[in-house]
Amino acid sequence: MLQSQRPRRIVIVGGVAAGASAAARARRLSEHAEIVLIERGPDISFANCGMPYHIGEKIEHRERLLVVRPQLLRERFRIDVRTSHEVTALNPRSKQLRVTDLQRGEEYTLDYDQLLLTPGAAPFVPNIPGVDLPHVETLRNLGDMDRIKARVDRGLSRALIIGAGFIGLELVENLVHRGVSTTLIERGSQIMPPMDAEMTAPLLEVLETHGVDVRLGTEAVRFEPCENGVRAVLSSGAELEVGLVVLGTGVRPENALAAQAGLELGPRGGIKVDRQMRTSVPDIFAAGDVVETYEAITETPIQVPLAGPANRQGRIAADAMFEREASFRGSQCTAILGLFDRVAAMTGFSEKDARRRGLRVGTAVVHPAHHASYYPGAKPMTLKLVYDAESGRVLGAAGVGSEGVDKRIDVLAVAVQAQFTVFQLEELELCYAPQFGSAKDPVNMLGFVAAGQMRGDHPQISAAEVASRVESGECLLVDVRTPHEFAAGSIESAINIPLDELRERLGELPRDRRLVAFCKVGQRGYIATRILLQHGFNAVNLSGGYTSWSLHTATQPLSVS
Ligand code: FAD
Repeated sequence: MLQSQRPRRIVIVGGVAAGASAAARARRLSEHAEIVLIERGPDISFANCGMPYHIGEKIEHRERLLVVRPQLLRERFRIDVRTSHEVTALNPRSKQLRVTDLQRGEEYTLDYDQLLLTPGAAPFVPNIPGVDLPHVETLRNLGDMDRIKARVDRGLSRALIIGAGFIGLELVENLVHRGVSTTLIERGSQIMPPMDAEMTAPLLEVLETHGVDVRLGTEAVRFEPCENGVRAVLSSGAELEVGLVVLGTGVRPENALAAQAGLELGPRGGIKVDRQMRTSVPDIFAAGDVVETYEAITETPIQVPLAGPANRQGRIAADAMFEREASFRGSQCTAILGLFDRVAAMTGFSEKDARRRGLRVGTAVVHPAHHASYYPGAKPMTLKLVYDAESGRVLGAAGVGSEGVDKRIDVLAVAVQAQFTVFQLEELELCYAPQFGSAKDPVNMLGFVAAGQMRGDHPQISAAEVASRVESGECLLVDVRTPHEFAAGSIESAINIPLDELRERLGELPRDRRLVAFCKVGQRGYIATRILLQHGFNAVNLSGGYTSWSLHTATQPLSVS
């Protein structure tokens, strides 16, 4: 067959989220293209996100993680799937790849017309002496999972997880579920680094409730072999003897092929792509964890190792190969974590992220019940909204609680994408019956609080700000809860004037100091603030009330353990 008559050959390197999505999409777009999917491992399209739960035996059967098998892609999509094959070199000039058949040990050359790189990101392995000992693992693929699970099955009694991000925390939960005594160390001063610190307090609490030994501000400095596994020497000087260490210390793009072929890379090693997932070299596309993509709000470069963006990018790359109109709008890093009975979710910017970027930040915090509080089973949650203090545009949100957090963050993710303002959150019409929500949904409440602040009706101060000002005597804290609530615990130096007595006791309050009213969650504090403002006082409400204060104080950096 003449070269010009040959159907175009699309080669995809990497057969999991982005690669398998792209392959199936490409076939749906063209019955005539030859599509070759090359995967180094034995499996394609497996559910990496489910791996911690198979270790924990919540997902009982391993096969459930094999979402799409090679046979299906071969038979239904006529894709030439080559598992246990590794692409070792890429020559963009000759449009050729060198491939090794790992089972046979044979090498061959493969031509391509269009190439898609979806090799993902590899776990970051810090340069710690002894990190290559057999009891020190990372979790990326089913082989890693099998080794970790086999240790647990053999009666592992003690484990050390390094890094308190998503993977580390999911592993902790599942090891505890299997009866393994688990220590979690984190270099930073909080768990779940992407979140604002105070939002992580309920997660820290649930870890402690389940007996997890959490050590913040702590690193591993050395691993040594010992009788039953490995001895980890920590930066605090402590030594732990464990049967398993898992590194959850982040990922790095697998960019070796791209770098060797001269594709343009970003400063953190991600392959640079345009909105159609084209790299800097003609006919080479890239998608998934390996690329540097766009953060959707400020449109600045970012790397996002998440399954949703990887799948969407794979699909867009396939569209672009066939000159379809498709464009990746960027990622706003919407993510969720389950930890025992707690849920933490986020979308867009956290407060610290937005401030780091120099944005004009306003925040609103509410602590509502997940459905009408009079209906049995209502569970508390905390939601935090981050918005542009001048335009009111929603920049991000986070939630922590047990039930109903996911749906609020999903709604707020849409608000971020649609560039809603806080005034539009006030107007959102969301589903309501008492067992599902509230007539004023928590998302509306965030809108009311933020919009009240923007209109000047409801000035607020955050717990962190109060903490930094209270000592100077600049503010007087007025606890407007009942004497009973006050007696059970309040902010040091606060005076107690219950809300219902406030109008009669205004004479007790100074007019030359800023008054910070607060209650349990912010609602009575809001009413008190309105009363005080209308009587000419300089008053603000403590955002989220004493509950926010407690979350703030619970997550102040601890001394190194
Ligand atoms: P990958 O899924 O990493 O696939 C890349 C594939 O390319 C690999 O299988 C690799 O073997 C292959 N490859 C690499 N180089 C070559 C080569 N030279 N030749 C041939 N093949 C090659 N995300 C979420 O959004 N939610 C979650 O709950 C979640 N949980 C996770 C839990 C765990 C334990 C892990 C590890 C990840 C989790 N993720 C989660 C992240 C998500 O899995 C990734 O973002 C997603 O898989 C990225 O897809 P990808 O196709 O870019 O890369």
